[in-house]
Amino acid sequence: VFNFSAGPAVLPVPVLEQIRDEMLCLPGAGASIMEISHRGGPFTEIIHSAEANLRKLLDISDDYAVLFLQGGSRLQFSMVPINLLGEGQSADYILTGSWGKKAMEEAQKEGQTRVAYTAKGSGFDHVPEQGDLDLDPQAAYCHYTCNETIEGVQFNGEPDTGGVPLVCDASSDFLHRKLDISRYGMVYACAQKNAGPSGVTIVIMRKDLAERSDANLPSYLSYANHIKEESLGNTPPTFAIYVVDLVTKWLLNDIGGLDKMFEQNKTKALKLYDVIDAHSDLYKGHAQPSSRSVMNVTFNLPSDELTSKFLGEAKKHKLEALKGHRSVGGIRASIYNAMPVEGVDALASFMKEFAKNA
Ligand code: PLP
Repeated sequence: VFNFSAGPAVLPVPVLEQIRDEMLCLPGAGASIMEISHRGGPFTEIIHSAEANLRKLLDISDDYAVLFLQGGSRLQFSMVPINLLGEGQSADYILTGSWGKKAMEEAQKEGQTRVAYTAKGSGFDHVPEQGDLDLDPQAAYCHYTCNETIEGVQFNGEPDTGGVPLVCDASSDFLHRKLDISRYGMVYACAQKNAGPSGVTIVIMRKDLAERSDANLPSYLSYANHIKEESLGNTPPTFAIYVVDLVTKWLLNDIGGLDKMFEQNKTKALKLYDVIDAHSDLYKGHAQPSSRSVMNVTFNLPSDELTSKFLGEAKKHKLEALKGHRSVGGIRASIYNAMPVEGVDALASFMKEFAKNA
């Protein structure tokens, strides 16, 4: 089947094959990746390699730490304010969808927040222009979600926050293109879309920001502690980090880097948006055209009956997991890095056929 799940999502086939081949005995380790010490030589090599691959793919300088944490992106919703939002300070949030809203709700439990922009009024169907932002120059940081997985809206570039550190939830489009990391204070992303399986969350953070971490924080919640311990303060998710290493090697060696990956991703997305636009009487794209996501393509059909029929017939064509998120309904086709172009072609043909007969 072609699996259009929003996450956990498809992994590249060569990566799955290598995992299968190495499952019982990791070469050089004499045991499975799940059975070896996180402090021994073979795993040390893996975690260093995963970090080096990420640094190479994204051109990350030594001013930034790369961390492999647990707790998903949801824990980052809390760790960001716990570490970065000082007493009496306020943090700005740019809200372009459900995940940004959740991130701010968690931050509100830790300190003061402020809405620098919200697209709620139009059902989170767009991202703002720079001039639409109401930024606080004194903010401790400014948080945004570069791709809203549920609504399918995505920024093309990063907002300019002046000197205020920009914190980005890149969970659902991390590694889909190159980012200029120097523009960010911090980028975090759970792995289970483009980078690997669930269980590990990647944090890229300007080291000087971690100096804000209160020394009395519980150790697991402190970025400063994770940097000091090089992500090994407790037993890390060894299997998930091993897969991140394989996926990042696939991006470097098989794909040829993130610029090439981005070209493929744009081509795939365009194929679906072209069908939506050519059959706009049937398919109503959720995102405004300039804010369309190249990762999560969201659209609605005119009735619940037609939506159910679409999903039922898609299933017969082996096109799976196309149901929109329970909070918004409709259809969502998630086409992350590992979705082959054949899967997108199959869906585009099905959509054309369905439109003819609807
Ligand atoms: N942020 C975004 C943009 C997401 O898409 C998700 C999950 O889909 C999350 C945060 C939450 O991630 P996790 O389930 O790893 O906590």
